[in-house]
Amino acid sequence: MINITINNNPFQVEDGSTILDAAKKAGVHIPTLCHLDMHDFKMVNRVGTCRVCMVEVEGRRNLIPACSTVVAEGMVIRTNTIRAIKARRTIVELLLSNHPKDCLICERNQNCELQSLAAELGIREVKYQGYQSHHKKDTSSYSLIRNAEKCILCRRCETMCNEVQTVGVYSAVNRGFETVIGTAFDLPMIETACTFCGQCVSVCPTGALTLVDNTAEVWAAIYDPEKYVIVQTAPAIRAALGEVFQMPVGSRVTGKMTAALRRLGFDLVCDTDFAADLTIMEEANELLDRLKNNGTLPILTSCCPAWVKFIEHQFPDLLDIPSTCKSPHEMFGAIAKTHYAQKLGIDPEKIVVVSVMPCLAKKYEAARPELAYGKNSAYVDYVISTRELGSMIREAGITFADLPDEDFDSIMGESTGASVIFGTTGGVIEAALRTAVYWLTGEKLDKIDFEELRGMQGIRSATIDVQGTPVRIGIAHGLGNARALLEAVRGGEKYHAIEIMACPGGCVGGGGQPYHGNNIEIIKQRADALYQEDKDKSIRRSHENTEIQRLYEEFLETPGSHKAHELLHTTYTKREKI
Ligand code: SF4
Ligand code: SF4
Ligand code: SF4
Repeated sequence: MINITINNNPFQVEDGSTILDAAKKAGVHIPTLCHLDMHDFKMVNRVGTCRVCMVEVEGRRNLIPACSTVVAEGMVIRTNTIRAIKARRTIVELLLSNHPKDCLICERNQNCELQSLAAELGIREVKYQGYQSHHKKDTSSYSLIRNAEKCILCRRCETMCNEVQTVGVYSAVNRGFETVIGTAFDLPMIETACTFCGQCVSVCPTGALTLVDNTAEVWAAIYDPEKYVIVQTAPAIRAALGEVFQMPVGSRVTGKMTAALRRLGFDLVCDTDFAADLTIMEEANELLDRLKNNGTLPILTSCCPAWVKFIEHQFPDLLDIPSTCKSPHEMFGAIAKTHYAQKLGIDPEKIVVVSVMPCLAKKYEAARPELAYGKNSAYVDYVISTRELGSMIREAGITFADLPDEDFDSIMGESTGASVIFGTTGGVIEAALRTAVYWLTGEKLDKIDFEELRGMQGIRSATIDVQGTPVRIGIAHGLGNARALLEAVRGGEKYHAIEIMACPGGCVGGGGQPYHGNNIEIIKQRADALYQEDKDKSIRRSHENTEIQRLYEEFLETPGSHKAHELLHTTYTKREKI
């Protein structure tokens, strides 16, 4: 520990801390913009590009950046002198001088760190008028839009994509005023190795990276009298949607969400959790098949489309190990437009399936040709994120907090606790084990909370004893961790099953979730909400879902049947590395 003084108050802090960390511990607020700090997920951006955190240090002539300066014994720091405040204001005024300032129509309006900082610093005019940089928007992908005109060159996206996700899509090109964050060879996003995880969108402080908004198409489908619009919601939505309406983080809003969807005008309100249970039936069956018949091990979960695209680009030699199961919302779409279309007596061409997902990669996934059932005929028509659903609810003037709790509709609406935890890292493999162990041993385990698989550590492993047979499980969240785990597998490390989710924390931290301000406590509290919902469910194992049992009896026959393969499984494609 060393002794410092911050704003005239003596304080002890660990040696090696930055001034910013020390100030935080001392309860002193220093504004930041480029800084990004989520140590649990190894996400630290302290490139010091924006200079918003300038402070005065006794004995130093110039102001210094708090985020990238390490404290020294006896250091006397002043964070709120008129000189420091003026410098911050000038820096933000200069940033605004080269910004479109179309806040009223920006997706980040009221949710933008640059806007908040301008307000915090009391900026009331744009002092500096001059040349503005102009760039073409990149709207090539199904998932995200790049608008370099709103970029403040903070480099958070670079840190996220290159260091945390190890995908390496972005880097700064050109110099000085011409500097822009670009892709290799200026390729449009759709042609890069981008996985569409959306994590760069989550950390971008401005409207430079935003999602592709599909709400207009969904409204059009709802108001089309010829269409029968079925909506499904992923597990992670219920643990985060409340945040859009200022409810406490970690609020479970399953019932209110269902009520809101009905009031928006959807014809059938269903739960992707139903399809998560279906995924477990197919995936657990595939695991057992590989275990019994000396199949390729480990089996890798395949419900995260960003992770699937990552392995297709980065590890094409390992494409025989992921499970062939489609992701739950795609399974849902396939069953909705076949079996249930028939049961409801509706022409599948008139059915529109809308998925509400925490995820931007699922927008891209819905357009994958191998998941379609004919030219231009996708099983899932539109994917909207938690944020987009929040906007639709607001647009419709629904007072979300006052809604009563309502249930999902009774087809494709029943779900178990196992399916709910799909939304967090470790949840998919825990859900699969609850069923696989039962099928292997015929024993209904008393203990179905596999605590050893839970937590937020980036890479985890555990060995589960299944009647004397050790089953080794690996878990990774965040693509950098996935890369490390896959390299270990390539190097000969033995696992039976591995779960991978692209987003730090899993889907609760997905790129389409409400902005979490880089606060990992928020991601943890969303995960806790899902574990609590699992605990509160009367049925907690996927194979006990009565609607799923009926689906197999009436239509699919058995897990892994020919019909199941036709509708619920898929194939993978080798792709370029860049
Ligand atoms: S979406 Fe993910 S992979 Fe694509 S650029 Fe952003 S962080 Fe990188
Ligand atoms: S795109 Fe966003 S995150 Fe990336 S450098 Fe620009 S402002 Fe920062
Ligand atoms: S972890 Fe979840 S939210 Fe993130 S990309 Fe994968 S499926 Fe989407």
